[in-house]
Parts: sequence; structure tokens; C-alpha cells
Amino acid sequence: MSTPRAATLVIVGAGPRGTGLLERIAANAPELRPDQPLHIHLVDPHPPGPGRVWRHEQSPLLRMNSMAEDVTMFTDESSTVEGPVRPGPSLAEWAGQFSGRSPRHEPYAEPDDPDVLAELRSLAPTDFPTRRAQSAYLDWVFRRTLRELPPHITVQWHRATATAVTGPADGPQQVRLAGRAAPLDADAVVLTQGHLDAAPGAGHRALADFAARHGRFYLPPEFSADADLSALRPGEQVVLRGFGLAFVDLTVLLTEGRGGTYRTGPDGELTYLPSGREPVLHVGSRRGVPYHSKTGYRLQGPPAPLPRYFGGAAVDALLATDGPLDLRRDLWPLMAKEIGFGHYHELFHAHAERTALPWEEFLAAYDRLDWYSPALGALVSAAVPDPADRLDLDALDHPLAGLAFPTPEAFQEHLRDHIARDVERRADPAHSADLGAFLALLSLFGQLPRVLASGRLTAHSIAHQVDGWWFGFFSYLASGPPGFRLRELLALSRAGVVRFLGADIQVRADEATGTFVASSPSVPGHTVRATALIEAYLPGASLHRTRDPLLRQLHSAGAVTEDVVSDDTHTHRSGLLSIVPADGRVLDPATGPHPRRIALGAHTNLRAAAAFARPRSDSPGFRQNDAAARALLRCMAALRPGRGPADGDGVGRPQARTTVPAG
Ligand SMILES: Cc1cc2nc3c(=O)[nH]c(=O)nc-3n(C[C@H](O)[C@H](O)[C@H](O)COP(=O)(O)OP(=O)(O)OC[C@H]3O[C@@H](n4cnc5c(N)ncnc54)[C@H](O)[C@@H]3O)c2cc1C
Repeated sequence: MSTPRAATLVIVGAGPRGTGLLERIAANAPELRPDQPLHIHLVDPHPPGPGRVWRHEQSPLLRMNSMAEDVTMFTDESSTVEGPVRPGPSLAEWAGQFSGRSPRHEPYAEPDDPDVLAELRSLAPTDFPTRRAQSAYLDWVFRRTLRELPPHITVQWHRATATAVTGPADGPQQVRLAGRAAPLDADAVVLTQGHLDAAPGAGHRALADFAARHGRFYLPPEFSADADLSALRPGEQVVLRGFGLAFVDLTVLLTEGRGGTYRTGPDGELTYLPSGREPVLHVGSRRGVPYHSKTGYRLQGPPAPLPRYFGGAAVDALLATDGPLDLRRDLWPLMAKEIGFGHYHELFHAHAERTALPWEEFLAAYDRLDWYSPALGALVSAAVPDPADRLDLDALDHPLAGLAFPTPEAFQEHLRDHIARDVERRADPAHSADLGAFLALLSLFGQLPRVLASGRLTAHSIAHQVDGWWFGFFSYLASGPPGFRLRELLALSRAGVVRFLGADIQVRADEATGTFVASSPSVPGHTVRATALIEAYLPGASLHRTRDPLLRQLHSAGAVTEDVVSDDTHTHRSGLLSIVPADGRVLDPATGPHPRRIALGAHTNLRAAAAFARPRSDSPGFRQNDAAARALLRCMAALRPGRGPADGDGVGRPQARTTVPAG
């Protein structure tokens, strides 16, 4: 009797997404692959589980911008996945075992790093953990996933970069690894490559050339944790373009990372004590203000029953209309009304003393009115007496609009006041309506992918409103730094280490002096000359300029399709990899959806929110992973018998439920 052939799967990218997919394969295998052997090759130069972004080897100063209780890798009762729900601890619950707050989770092992262990022992659910603490959690999730695989499913990790995938649509695939002669044979391949580096575009290259000619420092968009900042001299004048999370990371590395410390005064105010090795950081951006602080509390009232205005039925109705759709005109009024619902639901339930109407009465009127109608403005004015309790999304979007300051110092003061008010508000549960709005904002991602997949949005709308405005606005409002980072920013500003430039900054390369000259209409007539320029944001998606060798190979072989949206008036090249939204199959320009290649994550045109799942939020990421895992298991069940998986690949034999660094 012959042994059944083991199917083989190669997963390229073993970060959180690759790990989440593995968990879903484990969960679905008893139903879809109850006994036939399956061997999974995980390919990643970084450790499986954490992967590159969350690897332990990075500065211990860098942190998450999520609270520990808001991060989970496990499905729960809210998850509408087709496969089985398999609950597990959130980061906070997992950390609780080290202080005895929660029971032990198998496989139990204390992290080797004593600093991480000490952090986990004292980690409160509402703390913002270090990236190293999250690294330990992801490492444990990976190990637990391996333990839960049935014995006929085996996993092997290859500490390597994948450089090429070849093979026909209807036959086995070969995956080449850097530094290995023999490719891995695979029945199917998954690309969970996440955040990728890209070579600088033309504008960035010109600035790099300018810097090289004049012996100046220039950093194009890069992953902050990996950037080499050592050439920046103490006291050097540096302009940073971008006021989001990359700015926060870079500032931490250039201040505390260079030996500076904070002292807390008796009134709780922070003072920055410089080491003397810091450069001077001039920061500006389009909005000119930092991303809003994350809230540091929980909802004070019951959660709003979301979605209400931007759910499945509303999107069905939108898609049933004729003609092209425009996000700002057709979708945004419903999306904004949903955010308003989250905001006012929390205000009326948790802080009813600051409202002037019963909730039911307010809601009955709110239901009937359009977001931008004067009647809705009048309803809110009548029902919510304090303007600070009203939600004004347009004012939030343009915080410096129409403001000009006579001197740089006047602007520094204004911005410090703006930031201090934001930090105070976002830490104060009296303003928990902000968290209600945030949760409603998150819920919008439940339906947006469907609208995008419908192909009904105009190219202009996808370019300028989805990829351009929406993701930026979402990050600015909902994905900012923890409050303590903004308090540190205030201290750095008072110490003169950080200087605020303003909104709509312009940076010019001045050949005569070999300096970067920055200006902003926020302080008319004022300029800053700097010898260094940093683009303080991550590289954008670009299939043309990607530094990833595998995607470069697939792209130059014409085996993948860039997501290009085109209509009569506009062509938008997004740089993203086109996939089938339902199950992640990669679109081959010649043959259509590739039955043996699947891609999931930030480099695809699914345009999902790039964030960890929050517990009990029916995370779309779990649904995507589940659908892809089920598609893969079905695809492999349908394969005809053939030769074994590892024959002749020279890399290793299937390992029974264990990872083996091969080579
Ligand atoms: C700097 C940063 C901070 C973030 N902070 C937060 C946060 O605090 N909270 C939150 O909710 N979300 C955060 N995010 C969002 C982020 O999307 C997720 O946390 C998560 O990292 C995404 O996981 P992923 O596996 O899809 O991608 P990644 O984490 O990028 O993992 C992809 C993996 O693929 C590997 N890979 C790529 N190409 C190849 C190849 N050719 N061969 C082999 N391996 C390859 C990489 O080495 C990497 O390990 C952050 C993102 C970044 C970039």
C-alpha cells in the first residue's frame, strides 16, 4: 500500500499575517484536510511570528501605538469566519500570566530578555507595550499554532529571502531562495510579505543627489527602526517632513536613543534633559500638527450597535445605483454619519448630563437627516450645548486652516497649546465620545473593501480620496501615538530640540548654499535652513520600485498585475498587487486568478486597515485569513497524486510540528 502523497505549501513572509494564516490552516484542517499529509515551508529571513517589523532585535525604546488589551491574534465569539473559532489570549491576557493575573497559557515559557519579562510582569491592559513585548507575544502565538497542528501537518522554517516563484497555473510551483541552489517545490504559494521597502522615486532621488553633491544628509522614506541615523551630527539642523508615527519613532531614536532623559516635575510636567548629542529637529507636514493622541481609557457607556448607516444594506443600496461612485460625494456622508453615531451614542449614554434631549428622540431625528444638512447641524446644536462635545470632522481635518502667526515663537506656543489640549482631552474619560467615534471609524473597514472591489469608484476617487485622503485622515485621527509620546514631544519643544514648522510645508533644495530650505504659510516669510532632510514616513507601495526580489521577479516576468484604476478622466497606478478579494488569489495578467498563488496583506489592493485585530471586533483580517486558508486547503485536496514534497530540494525533511532553521 503506498503512503498518501504530502501536499506542500510555501508561505513567503512569516510575520503576523503569515502566522495568522497558519493558525487558520490549523483551525480548518480537521474539516478540510482531516488526514492527508501537508508540509508547510515558511520562508522569512526574520523569526517566524514577529517577522521583520516585530523582531526582538530593535531598539527597546520603540513602542506599539495600541493598548495591550486591544491586540489579539485569536478569533472570538464576534468572528464571522466560516471555519471554527479558536479563542486565545489577547496580548494583555497573555502578559497577565507572568504576574499571576491570568492563568498560564501553554506552551509556557518566560521570555529570555529580563527587560521584556519585567515589562510583561507589570503590563497594565491599557499600557502601550514595547515592540519587544509584542515580539514575545507573537513568538508565543507562533509556537502555540505549531502545537495545535494535527500530526499530519508539518512546518519547516527557512531563514532566507524568497527571490522567485515560477510554475504553471495548473502545475507545481518552484520557489527560489537566496543562497540556495535548489528551489522549494510547492503545490501552492502564499505571499504574506507585508510592508516592503521601495527604491526612491524621481523626486526623492533628486534630493538624494543634491545631498550627495553637497555632503548633506538625506533620508528617503524608510522603515524608521532600520534607518541609519548615525551621520546626523549633534546640533545639526534637520527638517523632517511628516508628523505621523515614523516621525515619533525617529524622534525617539534621535533623543532618548542618543542618551537624553525625561524628568517628571512635581506637577507631572516632563522636562527633557538633553545629552548634547541630539540634532535640532524641525518638523512640518500638510496638516502641520501631530497625529491625535490615542485615547487612554475605555468606553464609559455601552458599545454602540455598529454598523447603522454604513452596513451591508447601505452598501447594497449604493451599489444598486447606476453610474460611477465618488467616495467623498456618495460614501463619505454615510461614513461620517456612522462616525457621528459612535460619537453621540457614547456622549448620550455616558455623559447624558451634557445633552439636552433624550437619546431616543435625538436618534429618531438623526436617523432621518443627512450628515451635511443644516437640519442636522441645528439638531446637534440644540441637543449638545457645549461645542466641545460636538463632532466637527472638517475642523479636525484642517486644524491650522486660516491661521497665520507673526513669529515662529508665536507658532510654537500655539502648537504646544494645541498638543497639550489634545493630550489632556484624549486622556480624560469625560471625552469618551472620542473613543465612540474611533470605534465607528474602525467599523467602516467592514464594508469599504466591498465598495473598492465593486470597481464602481472612479479612478480619481480611488487616487485622491481613498489612497490619498481617507487613509491619511484615518491614521491622523485614529492611529496616532500614545499620549505619553505627545507629552514627551511637548518637553522636547520646550527644550528647543524639536521646532514646529507649520502646515503645507515646502522644502526647497538651495544649490547656492547647499542647504534644504523649509517654509510654511503658518508663519509667513519665515524660513529654516537645514543641512539634513528626512522624509518621515514609510515607503509607499510600488510594484515598479519594490526592493523585494520576489515581487520584482514576478513583476518583470509579467506574472502579477499592478492595481491600476482607469476611466475616461484619470489613470491611477496604486503600486499594489492585484488579488481576488474573496480569497486572495493573485491576478496573473495572462491567465487571470492564479489557482496556486495567494497574496494577503498590506502589499495587496485589498486596502485593509494595517493593524492588529482588536478583541471582539469581528476583525476583517481574520475573515481574510480564514477564507484564504480554506481556499488553500480545498485547492490542495483537489490535487492529483504526485511525488513527495521535499524530494531533491536539499533543504530538509518535513519536521513534526517544529520549526527548524534550515541552513
Ligand atoms: C513600523 C510599524 C509599526 C506598526 N505598529 C502597529 C501597532 O502598534 N499596532 C497595530 O495594530 N499595527 C501596527 N502596525 C501595522 C502592521 O501592519 C501590523 O502590525 C503587522 O506588522 C502586519 O503584519 P504582516 O505580516 O502583514 O507584515 P510584516 O509585519 O511586514 O511581515 C511580513 C514579513 O514578510 C517577510 N518578507 C517580505 N518579503 C519576503 C521575501 N521575499 N522572502 C521572505 N520573507 C519576506 C518580512 O521579512 C516580514 O517578516 C505597524 C506597522 C509598522 C510598519
